[in-house]
Amino acid sequence: MKTKGNAPQFDMSLRSLRKLADEALREVEIAEGFTGDRDMIAQTLRVDRDPDTGEWRHIVTLYCSSERCPGCPHGPYVFICRLGADGVTRWEYDAMAEPAA
Ligand SMILES: [Zn+2]
Repeated sequence: MKTKGNAPQFDMSLRSLRKLADEALREVEIAEGFTGDRDMIAQTLRVDRDPDTGEWRHIVTLYCSSERCPGCPHGPYVFICRLGADGVTRWEYDAMAEPAA
């Protein structure tokens, strides 16, 4: 039986899967931590207004910090923007939406 070499290969793919999962989780954390700070927006790819709800849909790429990591910018992400009663725009990350511009 030729099993030699299979185990390390499996370990490696597990590790890379875990790395991918970590990166995906981090991407979500960046999106959920975004509060609308314009300095953190790398690029606005698209802005749509929903005529029914009056909400704005922004597709943007983001910096994760002002220091900017090697992976910056992140995304693209889809955000739904709503104007609050206090006049402040709330940015809500729409994880289910396709970010295709
Ligand atoms: Zn980054």
